[in-house]
Amino acid sequence: MPPSTDLNDALMARARQIIPGGVNSPVRAFRAVGGTPRFVRRAQGAYFWDANGQRYIDYIGSWGPMILGHGHPAVLEAVQRAAAEGFSFGAPTEREIELAEEIAALVPSIEMLRLVSSGTEAGMTAIRLARGATGRSKIVKFEGCYHGHADALLVKAGSGLATFGHPTSAGVPPEVVQHTLVLEYNNVAQLEEAFALHGQDIAGLIMEPIAGNMNFVRATVEFTRRCRELCTQHGALLIYDEVMTGCRVALGGAQSVYAKAIPGFAPDLTVLGKVIGGGMPLAAFGGKRAVMEQLAPLGPVYQAGTLSGNPVATACGLATLREIKRPGFFESLSAKTRRLTGGLSAAARQASVPFCADCEGGMFGFFLLPKLPQNYGQVMQSESSRFNTLFHGLLARGIYIAPALYEAGFVSSAHSDEDIAATIAAASEVFQALRL
Ligand SMILES: *Cc1c(COP(=O)(O)O)cnc(C)c1O
Repeated sequence: MPPSTDLNDALMARARQIIPGGVNSPVRAFRAVGGTPRFVRRAQGAYFWDANGQRYIDYIGSWGPMILGHGHPAVLEAVQRAAAEGFSFGAPTEREIELAEEIAALVPSIEMLRLVSSGTEAGMTAIRLARGATGRSKIVKFEGCYHGHADALLVKAGSGLATFGHPTSAGVPPEVVQHTLVLEYNNVAQLEEAFALHGQDIAGLIMEPIAGNMNFVRATVEFTRRCRELCTQHGALLIYDEVMTGCRVALGGAQSVYAKAIPGFAPDLTVLGKVIGGGMPLAAFGGKRAVMEQLAPLGPVYQAGTLSGNPVATACGLATLREIKRPGFFESLSAKTRRLTGGLSAAARQASVPFCADCEGGMFGFFLLPKLPQNYGQVMQSESSRFNTLFHGLLARGIYIAPALYEAGFVSSAHSDEDIAATIAAASEVFQALRL
């Protein structure tokens, strides 16, 4: 067989020699779907081009941050100007205050916040803060929710009801996760039992309000209400991990969506990332003033970062937020996303392929299942072989969706009506191969 002339293959072979698995974050390796990852050479608007010069309509958008598409002129200009003024100082800047004020204005439950460099760091610190502020040890999380790769959060559910979990990664000793209680998402009875058993020891409950790391699964209103009530009743902090949903499903994040159904609803702490950095390494956590004042240098909970509040990253985040808060931005983005999921659903129906989809703002998910799943166990009933056929069919037609069935998708303001129509047309063709 002659050697492959595919430049992605060549780059992958070279990357594998020096980077474990050839990638710097595992899902990029295409292990779930097979085939060779596309090495991105450049991106503009709704598209990126791979090493072969092949163009793709991008529905990953760096896993969420690129809500304005790639290379938005106002953001690019802000980044270029900031870079010329210095990359990093290790001393405070006015821009950090501006970004913090901007975020607090968008998310009213945040009275004070701190900027960090990754969602992992923000989630990890929010847990430390909840423990420090309450003097308690136990944390509740839900199966299928991802909160970054901090040791205490790499846990899967235990076998029994409301039992403590097992590490999902080698290198995490069981003692490190012994205080992490893993429950089923949207299971009110189990939640109540957990609080009845352990309520006085629970420092915080961390959740993705719309889970985007098991594709797209909404917390029901009833479940959300009970999470809030039980935390309040037992003196635990409700921590919303909105790294993915923040400034993505709505300007005020998923909490603003739930606040419409539950008057007065607000979490105690919120974790943000992705969109607030506009594609630069930037994340944040914030919430009640009294809790945030527990952080060093004011309080006893330690946290620090050499690159925290980085001047180029904050410029990128600020410019991004200023664009998305323009009147009508989210209405238009939401309508576009709904057109995509509606079009895909209609195409699947026409081909008699079991399919369902959901979306909020610029985030969507779909399943090759007859009805929307409510938890991780139901998500995992999707057949991965059918998803892989869909994934590769779309990829071959220049449509790039997440290379795994348990990931959400993202639409940006740069996606045109033609891009959406081309995506639906490509999917219609691929659905023919998925007829049962
Ligand atoms: C992406 C993500 C994280 C982790 O953020 P990183 O910047 O990748 O460390 C945490 N929580 C949620 C919900 C995420 O989607």
